[in-house]
Amino acid sequence: MLGYLHKKSKKNDPTIVLKKSSKSLSSLVLELISPYKKWLLVIFLAMLLETAMSLLGPWPLKIVIDNVVGHHALPHWLAWIKDMPWGDSKMAIAAGAAFGLVLIALIGGIAGYIDNYYTESVAQYVANDLRQKVYHHLQRLSLSYYDSHQIGNILSTITSDVSTIQGFASSALLSILIDALTIVGMLGLMFYMNWDFALVAVAVTPILLMFVARFKKAVKKATHDVRTQQSTMVSVLQQGLESVRAVKAFDRQDLEETHLKDVSMSTVQASLKARKVKSLLSPVVALIVSACTAFVLWRGAHLVLTEAMTLGGLTVFLSYLGKFFKPVQDLAKMTTSIAQASVALERIQAILDTDTVIPQKPDAREPKNVKGQIDFEHVAFSYEPESPILSDVHFSIKAGQRIGICGPTGGGKSTVVSLIPRFYDPSKGRVLIDGVDITDYQLHGNSGLRDQIAFVLQDTVLFFGTVRDNIAYGKQGATQAEIEAAAKMANADEFIAKMAHGYDTMVGERGLTLSGGQRQRIGIARAIIRNSPILILDEPTAALDTESEKLVMEALERLMKGRTVIIIAHRLSTIRDADKIVVLKGGYVAEEGTHDELVAKKDGIYAELYHIQSGSEPLVTAPSN
Ligand code: ATP
Ligand code: MG
Repeated sequence: MLGYLHKKSKKNDPTIVLKKSSKSLSSLVLELISPYKKWLLVIFLAMLLETAMSLLGPWPLKIVIDNVVGHHALPHWLAWIKDMPWGDSKMAIAAGAAFGLVLIALIGGIAGYIDNYYTESVAQYVANDLRQKVYHHLQRLSLSYYDSHQIGNILSTITSDVSTIQGFASSALLSILIDALTIVGMLGLMFYMNWDFALVAVAVTPILLMFVARFKKAVKKATHDVRTQQSTMVSVLQQGLESVRAVKAFDRQDLEETHLKDVSMSTVQASLKARKVKSLLSPVVALIVSACTAFVLWRGAHLVLTEAMTLGGLTVFLSYLGKFFKPVQDLAKMTTSIAQASVALERIQAILDTDTVIPQKPDAREPKNVKGQIDFEHVAFSYEPESPILSDVHFSIKAGQRIGICGPTGGGKSTVVSLIPRFYDPSKGRVLIDGVDITDYQLHGNSGLRDQIAFVLQDTVLFFGTVRDNIAYGKQGATQAEIEAAAKMANADEFIAKMAHGYDTMVGERGLTLSGGQRQRIGIARAIIRNSPILILDEPTAALDTESEKLVMEALERLMKGRTVIIIAHRLSTIRDADKIVVLKGGYVAEEGTHDELVAKKDGIYAELYHIQSGSEPLVTAPSN
């Protein structure tokens, strides 16, 4: 069913190995920036220089006011300026101050250029690392993670949240650091110049900071709500577009649009609420700052009149005060960016902390020359702890045998075969291949457990790409000759040859440009090229008409030769010739035997199914159900 059901989370899934998150956010940040230590050093030095220049900024003016216009003497270490041949001694000082002004701007500009460029670089590379890290982790999570999480949400994290962090790192972070450095530097200079006056000037700072801190919490919560709404919106869009065929088939465009309208409006409301909180901050801070500046102006005039301070000193002081509160004000504004970035980081951390990776033992070994004997030893399994799917499944398959699995729908057939490649792990019992517990095998890689198994499912999933790529997906480094041979064996070469560009024809997303039978034959070619000892067929012909079923069955016959095969089928004719048939019902193996043995069974489930399907009268009326 199409729906935007919030799936229940599976906290107690037995296949999930939950480790308590040991990594804190800051350790994630450290891990991310550690490859860029050298660059960070360059950035830091450039920032120090930029800050120093910005602190020096008002000093030429002070010199002009006090030492050129006024009558104060230059400090000793600057006395050399007045002997320069730029004019008489006063004008030499003025020229020196003017020259200093330009020099300060030039050095500050170069430093600014360097730290801007390098922070952007670090931010871009960190975002790149982060995307790869998250995607790498997602690829390794067990299927149970995807059973309980919306793809749209994940997409939104890996795109929007990563960009948010990148944006923060490249712009906001730099200004925050420079602001912090500037504040410290100015405080030092202000106290050096006139400490009691400085004390008065900055007395309000703690109040300001406390106010900002209180605000931060509220802003963060609001931002979190906005992000949740935004990613729900992506989920809704993604689901609606992904199932666009079904939407059209049921003519439910209006329903889809209503869904979007609802979440879109919720996003608007959440954003407006967040803005309401944020908008309050700047005016309040501005008011406090101007009150403080007014006081300094009033009190400073008094100090200058009583000659406790020079006019130039007051100018520097006022200019610092303006600059001093600017970073504080900026920091206040930054709370929004900080909140957004930390929410984004938390959402990423939540993915990275999910530990539903199927565990591999440290001493896991390569499954070498697998023959294909498979044993299920009293296996129990459930997706949700409260509803067990398999209770005690026990059967074995000899190497090279062909086994059919049948039983009522929902009986757990697909679940049983998904335990063999360890898509999930059983909660009780073991699965063995060639007598070895499959958890002792390596999982991935060219000689891992999964490489020993090929699947053909009811509906073959094709990727957006060429026919060639889609067949080659079965094996790393497949050659053109292998691809063509596989297609031939799969009865696929004929229709591929008729396609506009042969093997280079693009198939649409999920293979929608091919018919069901064609898709299945590509799926079979993919399994042939994989050439693995174990083959699992989950209702490979269920969706086909008789004509394409014949072609597909022919191809399957070739594929099955010399392998251990498990076929799940509702149509019993498909598994009639199997060496053994296992009937699954209610989480148990209800019956087991060859076709003839099972048909001969009185009151047998298989016998009843067979007679219903073949249209013949059952020998003994089996009780329904
Ligand atoms: P069919 O013949 O219809 O394909 P099946 O025998 O293959 O059925 P399974 O797909 O194994 O049945 O499903 C067995 C039970 O497990 C069903 O009740 C189903 O609802 C449940 N189930 C299957 N997949 C999941 C999942 N990913 N999460 C939760 N429950 C699931
Ligand atoms: Mg199934």
